[in-house]
Amino acid sequence: MKVLLFFGLVAAALADVTRFDGEKVLRLKPVLAEHVTLIRDLAESIEVDFWSPDSPELVTIDIDVDIRVPARYLSIVYTTLGQSSMAHEILIEDVQVAINRQADNGISPKELHSYTKYNTWDTVLSWINSIASSNPSLVSKQVIGNTFEGRPMTLLKLGKSSGTTKPSIFLDCGIHAREWISPAFCQWFVKEALETYGSDSQMTSLLDQMDVYVLPVFNIDGYEYSHTTNRMWRKTRSKLSGSSCLGTDPNRNFDAGWCTVGASSNPCSETFCGSTPESEIEVKNVADFIRKNKSSIKAYLTIHSYSQLLLFPYSYSYNLAADHSELMSVAQGASAALTSLYGTRYTSGPGASTIYLAAGGSDDWAYDLGVKYSYTFELRDTGYHGFLLPESQIKPTCEETMLAVKYIAAHVQKNLY
Ligand SMILES: [Zn+2]
Repeated sequence: MKVLLFFGLVAAALADVTRFDGEKVLRLKPVLAEHVTLIRDLAESIEVDFWSPDSPELVTIDIDVDIRVPARYLSIVYTTLGQSSMAHEILIEDVQVAINRQADNGISPKELHSYTKYNTWDTVLSWINSIASSNPSLVSKQVIGNTFEGRPMTLLKLGKSSGTTKPSIFLDCGIHAREWISPAFCQWFVKEALETYGSDSQMTSLLDQMDVYVLPVFNIDGYEYSHTTNRMWRKTRSKLSGSSCLGTDPNRNFDAGWCTVGASSNPCSETFCGSTPESEIEVKNVADFIRKNKSSIKAYLTIHSYSQLLLFPYSYSYNLAADHSELMSVAQGASAALTSLYGTRYTSGPGASTIYLAAGGSDDWAYDLGVKYSYTFELRDTGYHGFLLPESQIKPTCEETMLAVKYIAAHVQKNLY
């Protein structure tokens, strides 16, 4: 009886998990206006999940388009592509197989924290608590507010206490739920900072003279949902009256050219900008914290995936930032440092001209608030695994990214303003 009950519960739990059997991720290569139209028409007539760019309205000529196509629509997509001159290739043969293959480091059980696996939120939270309590001289934590579903947004502050307010860097991960490599990097950063303080001269000097705020998971509700229910979830989990679609894109919800370009006012879109700027409590909590500490925060770094890009303002406009040349040269130096380890190549530049126009992003907002060194990382890879980067790539990805982050931090430290 107990056994039957157990299997009954397992079956009930499994029934709620979205599966992706037979789904493919395709890369389309639009080079003509009619290719762009074809992709947008396709997106309107069938259910397609845009991996890159983030939504059909961002599709432009000469930028590869990666889409996840549900199995039932594959034949119509192939027929349409067959009648078109647009080049295309298959990036992922079977999305469910790729999901099952992600955990290739063999680390279990689920509750055990590891820097080389994709930890669930509960595991990340216990790690936050234990890392703070075991390193009281270098780490403190504070809750900057709760998420829509009531989870505590816990921020770690790394740095040697000095009794006075030190200049600081704000680093966040996990704005988009399905970009699992991002929270893995924030955890790795904290580990590295604590392990190398006292031996690595740059890290020691950084934490002596500055503080680094780390928000390991920004969109906790979405991250949890992507673990429990739908691996492909991107947005927050907020409910909007009058719509059956849940969630807002937190990286379209900041008050920076809000919802003017590259965002959608349709609550069912993956790039829904929200009902108002900062309508998402997670966005408001972070924005309030940065506003309150804006005299000390000298850099804002936000980690996403995928595409291997190092972007800086602006994304909501083609206008160049007032600090464009400095931001560009630091980005190029940081990218070169990253590449030096494993040869991973990055492209750097302002968001709008490097990828596409998109308003409401956190980096543009922080920059306009006065945080000069504002950067968005898009980590590995370039689409072979996309959001389903295997756990075996967490370590090399984090190691190389550390070099870029430390390069930027060193520049900030030498150029405080
Ligand atoms: Zn993202």
